[in-house]
Formats: sequence, C-alpha cells, structure tokens
Amino acid sequence: MVSDRVKKVKPSATLEITAKAKAMSEKGMDIVTFGAGEPDFDTPEHIKNALFKAVKEGFIYYTATPGIPELREAISEKLKRDNGIDYSTDEIIATPGAKQAIYEAVQAITNPGDEILIPDPWWVSYVPMVQLADGRPVFVATHEEDGFRLKPEAIEAKITDSTRAVMLNYPNNPTGSVLLKEDLKGIADICKDRGLLVISDEVYEPMTYDCAHTSIASFSGMKERTITVNGFSKAYSMTGWRLGYAAGPIEIIKAMTRIQAHSVSNTTSFVQKAGVAALNGPQDCVKEMVEEFKKRRDVIVEMLNRIEGVTCAEPSGAFYAFANCKSCEPDSFKLANYLLENGVAVIPGGAFGEQGEGFLRLSYATSMENIKKGVDRIEKALTRLK
Ligand code: PMP
Repeated sequence: MVSDRVKKVKPSATLEITAKAKAMSEKGMDIVTFGAGEPDFDTPEHIKNALFKAVKEGFIYYTATPGIPELREAISEKLKRDNGIDYSTDEIIATPGAKQAIYEAVQAITNPGDEILIPDPWWVSYVPMVQLADGRPVFVATHEEDGFRLKPEAIEAKITDSTRAVMLNYPNNPTGSVLLKEDLKGIADICKDRGLLVISDEVYEPMTYDCAHTSIASFSGMKERTITVNGFSKAYSMTGWRLGYAAGPIEIIKAMTRIQAHSVSNTTSFVQKAGVAALNGPQDCVKEMVEEFKKRRDVIVEMLNRIEGVTCAEPSGAFYAFANCKSCEPDSFKLANYLLENGVAVIPGGAFGEQGEGFLRLSYATSMENIKKGVDRIEKALTRLK
C-alpha cells in the first residue's frame, strides 16, 4: 500500500530508543535518560504571554503563507544583529519548526538523482528528507581526531557532476562540534568554485561555548547560494511550539512558500506572535540556559573520561556529549540496549551514520543530579561488562 519512495525511509532510531525508555519508566522502572533532543527548561514567561495575548485578541485565522510581516521583520533584524547578514523580509519564510524549513529547502532544490552531500555523523532526518525528494544522500566522513569538523578537502573528494548542495549543521547534533571561521571559509570557497548550494542548519547557534558562531551566508558570495535555517526550539526552549525559519535566495524562498502553501499553509498564527516576542524581547533567558548547559557539559565530559575504556572530547556546542566507547563494545546499538537494561537511556552513535558507530550520544539537557546518577550507572554497568 505504501509508495516505493516512502518505503526507503527508515523510522528514527532516536525515537525508537526514547520510546522504549519511556515505556520502561511508565512501568515503574527507574531510568535516567540522556536521550532528549530538547532543552529541559520552560519557555520564558514573556513568550508565553505573547501567545496568550494573541489568542485573547482573536489572532486565530490563517496568516500569509511565509509568515506575518512583523515576524519576518524580527527574523531579518536577528540575522543582521547576530549573524551580520542582510536579508530582506522577502528572502525569509517562517515555518512550523526548523525541520519543516529543511524539508522544504531540500524539496525546493533537489531534482531526481541530485546528490546532496551530508557530513557523517548526521542528524537523523537529513537522509530521509533527501530520499523523499528522490535525491541521493552522499556522505562526507568527519573524524573524532579532527573534532568532527568538516574538512573542505573531504567535500571536494565527493563532488560529482550530480552534486547539487552541501548540508551543514553546526553546532552539530550528534557530535557537538562547531565549524570555525577558517573551516567555513574553505567550505565556502569550494561551494562558490563548484557552483554548489548550501543548506546551513544553525538551530543550536546559541549553544556555542568556547568561540563565536559564524554563519556561512555571511561570507562574500555565499548569501546567493545558502539557505540559512534556524529556529526557536533550542534557543528559547520551544520544541512543542513548532516554529522555525529559513532565509535564502528569493526564488528558493518562493519555491518553499509554494510547498508550504500546499501542505501546512502557514505556521500557527499565535505562535508567530510569540516568535516576535522571543526575538525582540530580552535575551537573558537564553544566556542563563546556555551558562547552565556549559556547567553540565564540563561535569558530564569529566565524568565520562574517568570511565575506563571511554573517551569523550569536549564538545564546543549544542547539548550533546559524544563518547567513544569502542573499546568497551564496538556495536553501539548493543551497548545502548545493555545500558537501558541497566537503567540508563543513551542514543547509539550508529543511528547517526557509519562514522557514529562505536559512540554513544548523551544529551546533557537534563539536571545535574541526573547527570551524576546516570553516568555513575554507566560506569558501573561498563565495569560489569568487562
Ligand atoms: N536540526 C537539528 C540538527 C536538530 O537537532 C533538530 C531538532 N532535534 C532540528 C533541526 C529541528 O528543530 P525544530 O524543532 O525547530 O524543527
């Protein structure tokens, strides 16, 4: 009954293990979970109030497909202020989540057989999105010894006549790596030389700990070929609200708007008003959350490195520790299942591609207490494994 195109798409392994952990917790088992891909903070009060106000005032109808003008203006201001990129409101679309923005971008630029370069390890939805557009995902390996930073020469080696675009994600899920200015400059030069588009997924932008975030579209000649994707889920702890956006060349934004018009219509009207409050309001809430994540990162990385057979490089961004556990158990799925039986939910690195195999992803978007309790359990379980 199902189309061949959809049959190619596998269910998300991150959802599978988190669902298993949830079912075990519901049965009364004590599970510490490091699976979450979302901040464990509440959405700031002033953002919630903007939504309540909009609903009370009857702002409950369809909006323009790419979003209300004040939100597109607020996004344009943000991209100028934080990223130094000058996007007009026509070059911006508000979407129900950054995920939808990436989905629409891939649909908008991919012809059947086009190759999209995806750095490996990769966030779980990139490959299905390319497959659903009848494109071909082509993996570009990144390595632990380079801090999982994408090397320009690795991209160059994978370019063929069918290469259409490069997918970038920094700070990265699952590795926590960031791309520095010099990395991005090299990648930008190749994309310009070889006529490639870039989809730049920057949803973890505020969670950059040891250096400044740079957007690839800010390099000369890159705005013309980049679709910059960002959102509210991580920055303002708004995962359930479904709000994100893309900024890029006007023809691509118009094409994405057509896809949106014929699928979801628009992002929820009153959520868009909340988005305006998030971008134009005080930003201390973001700073406080990021400071807390940094403290947790320091603790989790230190604790993981104390475990015999485990090494974990310090991630510079996002809220994930990516721990190399190859010498304990090379099969990350087996190891994640074993740890789940021992009361800890982690995501197997193999779920993020070949280069992730042998690693475990631990989200530290959880309390310090859980971090200590959970990593202690991991240590005990791994000692027993030996
Ligand atoms: N990109 C990456 C790398 C992510 O980790 C996520 C969320 N897990 C998204 C995009 C999607 O974010 P949103 O909630 O805005 O759709």
